Amino acid sequence: MEEEIKKGHFIESIIQEDVNANKNNGRVATRFPPEPNGYLHIGHAKSICLNFNMAGQFQGTCNLRFDDSNPAKEKQIYIDSIKDTVAWLGFDYKTPFFASDYFDRLHEFALELIRAGKAYVCSLNADEIREYRGTLTEPGKNSPYRDRTVEENLDLFDRMKNGEFGEGEHTLRAKIDMGSPNINMRDPIIYRVKNATHPRTGDTWCIYPMYDFTHCISDALEGITHSLCSLEFEDHRPLYDWILDNISVPCHPQQIEFARMNINFTVLSKRKLQRLVEDRLVSGWDDPRLPTLEGMRRRGYTPASIRNFCNIIGVSKKESRIDMGLLESCLRDDLNENARRVMGVIRPLKVTIENYPEGQTETLEAMNHPQKPELGKREVSFSKEIYVEQDDFMEDPPKKFFRLGPGREVRLRAAYFVTCREVIKNQAGEVVELICTYDPETRGGNAPDGRKVKGTIHWVNANDCLDAEVRLYDRLFKDENPEQDGRDFIDNLNPGSLEVLENCKLEKSLAAAKPEQVFQFERLGYFCLDSKDSSGDKPVFNRTVTLRDAWAKLAKQNPPRKKNKPPRQKKKKK
Ligand code: ATP
Ligand code: MG
Repeated sequence: MEEEIKKGHFIESIIQEDVNANKNNGRVATRFPPEPNGYLHIGHAKSICLNFNMAGQFQGTCNLRFDDSNPAKEKQIYIDSIKDTVAWLGFDYKTPFFASDYFDRLHEFALELIRAGKAYVCSLNADEIREYRGTLTEPGKNSPYRDRTVEENLDLFDRMKNGEFGEGEHTLRAKIDMGSPNINMRDPIIYRVKNATHPRTGDTWCIYPMYDFTHCISDALEGITHSLCSLEFEDHRPLYDWILDNISVPCHPQQIEFARMNINFTVLSKRKLQRLVEDRLVSGWDDPRLPTLEGMRRRGYTPASIRNFCNIIGVSKKESRIDMGLLESCLRDDLNENARRVMGVIRPLKVTIENYPEGQTETLEAMNHPQKPELGKREVSFSKEIYVEQDDFMEDPPKKFFRLGPGREVRLRAAYFVTCREVIKNQAGEVVELICTYDPETRGGNAPDGRKVKGTIHWVNANDCLDAEVRLYDRLFKDENPEQDGRDFIDNLNPGSLEVLENCKLEKSLAAAKPEQVFQFERLGYFCLDSKDSSGDKPVFNRTVTLRDAWAKLAKQNPPRKKNKPPRQKKKKK
């Protein structure tokens, strides 16, 4: 698949102009700064691709930096997962950086602000601070502690650091402007007491720097030139600049904001995803229905398809909601080109070929990829008993149904023509087996007499197939915007988002499938071996994506699918 790099978004133009003007000596340095308080989602991929691509395009560098200044919520497992995921996406971050590695220097910069009379220890409690802060329409009021002397501030801050005070008793605040129309500039807190063990610095510190203080200084210390972040930080930019203007750092990166990625039929926020996980509405952070990159990886998404999606949607300042169909189509494009074809029957119907020799098994050849002969052929075995898809038989087929029906002849992919001679039912009247005959002259799928059949169906040999569980996934939410009109997204979950099929019959070659390796199960969709719940005894396959957008078609159908009427229309040959 060609990776399409969308040229010319506004951030690229800004960087290009800076390079042309030899700003920062023509150097470009970006960073991706996750807080390790959860797993990455597809929205983060947008930021990862943007930052690494800009660095790559301008022969610059991109740091992976953990913004780990809030030990209460951060964990080593998240750090490990984020590292793994960024590498999986295909980006080489070399050594990761950590804001916590700058704790000493951040503390020094806080002292510098205090000595310059630009920061003070405030002893208002959280409620009082909120009250003094004012609102969007009313200015704030100065804290009664704002005019403490430098000596008093240094002493109190030192005692905060030494653990003499409890959480919330004192904070360190930047002395900026309580009358500023921008609330972020109303003497923001830059340090607070927090009695938590940090995943990397342990119990060394009991004061921790706030995000706004940590982030800009970390950028400056790393020599970042362009600090790209999502739009919600726009109002924080004056604070970003104020801090860097008031301390002695070697450089002043430029913060540039862009719109976050939103996708329909899902939610992209660590907090919301966490709720789904904690309330056990999904099986975990890597549930294949989630938009987490770990979940998508487990589902069978390829890194190239995600990178391509991020490039196609581009970067702008305008908030928008992207169609999930676009993400899926990027995935299909990649898989259509690269996934090997195999046969699997997920809702099996037994077929006995009455004129086929008892006890005989023969080996046939099937193409691994119809458009890529270089991917070669594989052997599939055939015998008197096979399985076909229940959907591929109808007792009373309508005109356009070209699959099996009483008296009808079809081609078994890469095998023979077969004709249905008899339908066997159980006491409840359900079809449980078909008796067919085959034409031995049609080996390989062509009739020497030039006779044509309209339908080709997939099948597996009942005598040496693999029994597997197959999990079919659908949209996690029922509506395009699960939070429309202020609804709780939990109320919009799609109860049919997971369908588990037991006793699926797959061709034997799939016994060698590796986790995350995606196959096209002919005529059904793309599937991959589940990396977590699969075992040698019981393989589990995830449906990565359907062959085409069955959803859009189904949604249009009114009334919904009737029992004996498959929604599939004529298949485009894949
Ligand atoms: P969430 O809101 O999901 O919790 P976050 O912004 O708090 O995400 P961070 O770990 O702070 O998560 O994000 C790291 C970087 O990824 C930030 O620069 C942030 O702007 C960016 N980012 C997060 N979500 C998106 C998104 N949906 N689209 C684009 N960039 C995003
Ligand atoms: Mg954040």
